[in-house]
Amino acid sequence: MSNDQSNAVSKLLTIDFAKFLESIPPGKLVEVPDLGILDNRAAYLEENTKLNKCDIRIYCDHESCNGIRFFRRIEKGNEYLKTEDHSFLYISYQCSNCRYTTRTYSLALKYRRRRKY
Ligand SMILES: [Zn+2]
Repeated sequence: MSNDQSNAVSKLLTIDFAKFLESIPPGKLVEVPDLGILDNRAAYLEENTKLNKCDIRIYCDHESCNGIRFFRRIEKGNEYLKTEDHSFLYISYQCSNCRYTTRTYSLALKYRRRRKY
């Protein structure tokens, strides 16, 4: 961990990725410390950090659920975060209980590497 972010510290709300997906309305800009997870198998690559695939807990309106349930990412593959550009992607979640309800998020990401190498 480096401590050289002082100039980059913003007034953005800082929030975990799961909480972001669960609670932040569309169009809001936030800082997400756990957005990326280092992929050790790809450590030698420039893009070696994959998007966090954490489960989330959101409301499912299916008749067999009707409440807060765990949702899991549907996509099997990993998205690797680019450090310079914005990435735009869609990610989809499915209710783990009824396996019927899905939610799709449209994200604009800008990943800022925190470690020096
Ligand atoms: Zn459900």
